[in-house]
Parts: sequence; C-alpha cells; structure tokens
Amino acid sequence: MCATCGCGAESGAPGHDHDHHHDHDHHHDRPPIETVLLEQQVLAKNDLLAAGIRARLDDGGVTALNLMSSPGAGKTTLLERTIADLGSTIPVAVIEGDQETRLDAERIGAAGCPVVQVNTGAGCHLDAQMMRDALAVLEPGAGTLLFVENVGNLVCPALFDLGEHAKVVIVSTPEGADKPLKYPHIFAVADLVIVNKVDLLPYVDFDLESCSHHAKSVNPDSELIALSATTGEGLDEWYRWIARRRSVSR
Ligand code: MG
Ligand code: ZN
Repeated sequence: MCATCGCGAESGAPGHDHDHHHDHDHHHDRPPIETVLLEQQVLAKNDLLAAGIRARLDDGGVTALNLMSSPGAGKTTLLERTIADLGSTIPVAVIEGDQETRLDAERIGAAGCPVVQVNTGAGCHLDAQMMRDALAVLEPGAGTLLFVENVGNLVCPALFDLGEHAKVVIVSTPEGADKPLKYPHIFAVADLVIVNKVDLLPYVDFDLESCSHHAKSVNPDSELIALSATTGEGLDEWYRWIARRRSVSR
C-alpha cells in the first residue's frame, strides 16, 4: 500500500524507499494523525528532491512537461504526434511512466525519440526519485523538450512534484465535462488543461464551455486548449504554448 496516496503502490515499487515503508508498517496501528504526518514527510522529501531536479534541468537548459490524465485520454497519441511535428526542429525526449508494460515506450521509440521506461508495478504515480533515476539514464542535452508521461491516474500524480516546469492535464471528450469537479486537486495544480478528441464532439455528450468553466472554477490561472491528436485540429495552439514555456524556462 502506498502510504502517501493510499492507492495501492507496493513497498517494492521503484522510488518507494525502504525507510518510508518500514515506518509505514511500523506505525500501522497508530491513529490517523500519525499517517497524516508521515504523508507530509514523504511529500516534503519528494518536494526537496524535485527542487534539486528542477535546478539541474534549468542549468542544463531542459524544459520538462508532466503529462497527466486518466487511462485512455490520449497522452501517448498526443506525444507521437508532437514528436512527429516538432522532433525535426527541437530535441525531444520522453520519460514513460507505466505500471507494467513497455508498450507506450515502444510507440515513442518508434516515433524516433529517446525514451526511458519507468515501471511502477502496483504504484499509481511517478515520484521525484523515479524522475531522478530516469534522468540519470536519459541524460537529456541542452535545449531538450522533455515530456513525462505519468501513470494514467487523476488522483495521486497531483501530489508529486517531479521537478517539471509545467503540469499538463489531459481530459478527453468521451470522459465527460465534469472531470475538473470530480478531480479538483489535479486540475488545481495544472498549468494547462488539454481537451483531447474534439473530433468526437458530435458523437459524445461533452460541453466544451462547461468543461472550461469547471476548470476555471477550480483553477482560475489554468489555460485550456481543445485539440484532436488524431485529426490535428488545435495542435498549432499546443505548439505555441510549448514554445512559450520553452522561452520562459530558458
Ligand atoms: Mg499512454
Ligand atoms: Zn499513488
């Protein structure tokens, strides 16, 4: 059990250090306040690691974007398309978070992009330690646009700073426009909300205006881009947003 998010990560999962799990087991029967304090310690340690990662990425001229969504919203498809469109002019690299498989990493590799797979096992999010380990293998060069595809989950990835420069939350039209209300924590930390699969709008019950309204109600500072990674509609705006982020973080 992941002590921080309580959503199933086992003690053997990469990045979940042994002390934290030992403590977790040891305090298993303590009252809830102990658990809250432990969570705060885990997150404080993660934030410290993440701050170091961000500083090193800044020094190295790397811009890192953390992509989060529920399973099937289209993170990998959007990445494939983005690599195809930007990869010839910008060095792009990807860290792939997935519970068990290398399937998404194989798709990214086939798109011609350096990629490192992080398998979280029963774990349901990436954390800063996993990010650091992946970066040690990937070694992105100066000017790299680094995408992190987080584990498909709209809950605990919201808690874990990876040292990225921006958090992007993707929601797809078949999922419904109420996602920002149902998962407010992740939308609250999003710099950008992408509504993907707008090509399906004629066939699904999804109101773009109300999704935008809900996202703004949770996070007035978040931006929203509606696009389709398959038809290409709206991708220009996504690429302009990326260009702005890259100029900010350099
Ligand atoms: Mg994927
Ligand atoms: Zn988790």
